[in-house]
Amino acid sequence: MKNITILGATGSIGQNTLDLISRDKKNFKVIGLTGAGNIKLLAESAIKFKADVVATANDSSYHDLKEMLVDHQIDVCAGKNGVLEVACRQADWVMSSIVGSAGLLPGLKALESGANLALANKESMVAAGPIMKRMSEAKGVKLMPVDSEHSAISQVIRGEDRNSLSKVIITASGGAFRDLTKDELIGITPKQASMHPNWKMGQRITIDSASMFNKALEVIEAKELFELNPSEIEVLVHPQSLVHAIACFLDGGMKAHIGPPDMRHAIAYALYEEKRFNLPLEEVDLSTIGTLNFEKPNLFKYPALKLGFEVVQQGGLAGAAFNAAKEEALDNFLDHKLSFLGMADVVRATMDDLTSKNILSSEVELEAVMEIDIQARSVAKTFVEKFLR
Ligand code: NAD
Ligand code: MG
Repeated sequence: MKNITILGATGSIGQNTLDLISRDKKNFKVIGLTGAGNIKLLAESAIKFKADVVATANDSSYHDLKEMLVDHQIDVCAGKNGVLEVACRQADWVMSSIVGSAGLLPGLKALESGANLALANKESMVAAGPIMKRMSEAKGVKLMPVDSEHSAISQVIRGEDRNSLSKVIITASGGAFRDLTKDELIGITPKQASMHPNWKMGQRITIDSASMFNKALEVIEAKELFELNPSEIEVLVHPQSLVHAIACFLDGGMKAHIGPPDMRHAIAYALYEEKRFNLPLEEVDLSTIGTLNFEKPNLFKYPALKLGFEVVQQGGLAGAAFNAAKEEALDNFLDHKLSFLGMADVVRATMDDLTSKNILSSEVELEAVMEIDIQARSVAKTFVEKFLR
């Protein structure tokens, strides 16, 4: 019986994780669940899975959540500290699936408490990869990628001599606007950007997929997780979203991972710690699909990805600054203040500003990461004013 906690249980990854657990109840005990806005779903999930403790990130939702759980023996906490309290409750395996940099401290706390961490929250790796790795090593616990591309990399390099790896390729679907020109991207609205052709995900990552900020984050995530040099990471646009990653070896051989565009595949690989089970997923029928296409991404059309390649070269605190500026820009796109392409303009200007101040090359320590996060958001805010749509 494995004790499980899910940080961000009401989201797309959180609910997919609970779906897998519901199919194998005898092997799992749910310890803690956290959420932010949707407390009805949080309460329902806590009751259904007989959780010991729940937390809502919103302080103001505490009494409503408590009221919903009044007839159940479930501890209720709220606020950032409430989420951290749940992250610390003794669990064997924790899913880190809060969206954004809000997931960093809870994920880190879970590692510190001795849990193996399934990492969907790529932002914590982008902002603080070395800290996450140091903590997992110090505590002797696993850090398991859940992002489909990174789960795929871990699957194809398993059993291989790390020194024989020459490069990894991660794929990008090209998002919702693959076939549009850069000019046609200018007027894209949040509603249009919130639809993805192949994957069903939370709104923020869906928009990041359309702008390729998501792929930029994933390039940095790959570098941190697998200790790759920036030149060893390539991105190819692959519209079918079936090949998630390819490992290239020194002898010219390549190993590709093909899987269904369903996150339960990658979640299960982490949930069962690299063992394979019969999952209720649609089989990929290659004879029906017929053709798999790959092409180099157009960095002119996707300035966010170009930035990502620069940030991964820069290292240090650049990842934390990039992620924070991106989150600020995305908030302003959702508020209709910035245009779709304006997000990359703001992040570019923020990164140039912070780079010129020579503050991004410091050691990646937690305090420095938190400070640069605040600073990058504040600089990005000033550029939002400049790039208002
Ligand atoms: P989502 O928006 O569906 O869910 C996010 C979860 O985080 C919800 O439970 C929400 O209540 C909670 N949350 C939001 N803001 C919070 C805050 N400030 N404090 C605490 N909790 C907060 O997002 P998602 O699509 O499930 O993505 C979650 C993470 O997984 C992201 O980092 C995303 O990049 C990553 N990821 C998602 C997918 C996918 O298919 N959805 C694939 C790969 C990686
Ligand atoms: Mg991904």
